[in-house]
This record gives sequence, C-alpha cells and structure tokens, in this order.
Amino acid sequence: MQSLKKIDIHAHIVAFPQWVPLNLYGSRMLSPEELIRKYDQLDIERGVLLPIVSPEGQTVPLSVEGCIYAAQKYPDRFSWFCNVDPRALNNAAAPSDFSFLLAHYKKLGARGVGEMTSNIFTDDPRMDSFFSYCEEAGLPVLFHISTGIGNWYGMVDELGLPRLEKMLKKHPKLQFIGHSQPFWSEMSADNTDEIRNDYPKGKVTPGRLWTLMREYENLSCDLSAGSGANALMRDPENAAAFLVEFQDRIYYGCDICADTNKHPFIFREFIDGLCESGAIPKTVYRKVCRDNAAKLLGV
Ligand SMILES: [Zn+2]
Repeated sequence: MQSLKKIDIHAHIVAFPQWVPLNLYGSRMLSPEELIRKYDQLDIERGVLLPIVSPEGQTVPLSVEGCIYAAQKYPDRFSWFCNVDPRALNNAAAPSDFSFLLAHYKKLGARGVGEMTSNIFTDDPRMDSFFSYCEEAGLPVLFHISTGIGNWYGMVDELGLPRLEKMLKKHPKLQFIGHSQPFWSEMSADNTDEIRNDYPKGKVTPGRLWTLMREYENLSCDLSAGSGANALMRDPENAAAFLVEFQDRIYYGCDICADTNKHPFIFREFIDGLCESGAIPKTVYRKVCRDNAAKLLGV
C-alpha cells in the first residue's frame, strides 16, 4: 500500500536555530528545514506549527512570530496556531480581554491556539476566561495536561479529568484537542495516580477518555508523541475500536522535539499497519491521518 500523505497536527520548530541554546539533553527543537527533511522521510505533507509561550517546561519559549515566519516561508508544508498565556496582560485578579490578540492572529492566518502548557488549573478563572475568548474567536485549543502545580508543564487536572469536563461543559462551542500522558492514560479504566503521567501498558478496558469523547462533541484527540502512540499501540484491538468510533475527532500527530526522536517512525508503521491489515477501514485511516486536519486547517 502506498503510504498516505499525512498531516501532523502537532509540530514545533525554532525559526532561528543559530541563536537557540541546547537543552539539558544536549538537543534543541528542529529548524523548519530540518523538520521538512523528517516529514519527507515520514510521508508527511504538512505540519501545524505550535508556539509555546508559557515559561514552564521549555528552555526558551517558541515564539508565535517564529511559526508565522516558517509558515510563510513554506506555505505548502506548514500551517500554524497562535498562542497566548492566560496569565498575560496582567491577568491576575480581573480577567484580561484577549479578544484583540486572538483577532490579530486570526487575521494573520492562525487556525487555532496552542500548545497550551501554562501550569495552572484547567478550570482556573484565568484559563476559563481565556477559553471564552477562544470560543468566541472560533479557534480550537490544543492542550497539554499536567498532574500538578510544579510537577510538569501543562494545565493541571486530577485523575479522570474532572476540571476538563467542567470546561467542556461550560464552553460547548470551543473545540478542545487533548494531548499528553495524563490525557491519554485515561484511555483505560485502570488508570491510577501512579501511572497517569507515564506510558501505561497492557490491555485496555475503555476508561474516562471514552466517556468524555462520547459525552462531549467538542472534545478531540491529538495522537502525537509517545503518549498518543502508546495509548493506541498498547492494545491494537482497542485502538481500532477507538479510531472507528471517534473517527471524525482524532488527528494524527508527531510532536518531534529533537532530531533523535524515533517514535514518529514506529507509530507511522503501526497506524499504516492497522489500515493494511484491515483492522480499520481505509476511510477511517484517511480521516484520522489527513482529512480531519485538512478540514480544520482549510487546506
Ligand atoms: Zn508539543
């Protein structure tokens, strides 16, 4: 089978690598050209560049301007989301008005907001208010969940994602796109506090993620990184059932953060294999790997 030209919903770049310090592991995010070389190896036609503007979890922020710069330089290979930290504009006590910022980025071509990594509660009043502005602007939000304040970058939620559910209910017109270990570990009902920030293995008993996806049409999934890949690869039979049931709200993704990342190659083989073996229909494969994202991005 000829591999389908895919769209990667979750990409990061540094526009000017010559000025970017290496992280603690001695690596850095790829430049646009380096990422395009990876995409050619992976049969990926287009990626969504996600800025990261919160101070948590990063050596340096990944600027919105850098993403726009790369997307304008390679319009056939990149789309982009904008990003705003809900704590910006002195959003301390009173909610800040983010509408002008989102309108500004939307006019420039932003197709969404994210990756949201601010380490505050998912239902923090500043987050809640920011979601209202995203909802009003019609921009989907792609987010990383964290298990605690100070634990890791990402919006904080407990086991079972009760705060996310509150936001899903409160912002029915806002499309939430979930990512990260604490999001994907909810695939199985046997999730615990001990394993939720990890890559749990073994057969899946449909868990909270299934319930939330069934209950809230405004929730979608980002398959990127080790977390998305693991959630499917741990139980191929469950993966097929999940992809088929939620075929219109799942996006293929990579989250390549260093030149040495191997997971996108392993996962590509897995998801192509599901289609080749007939475990999922070709229409489902096409939607997840390409068509859903093409629709979201208007390409
Ligand atoms: Zn990411």
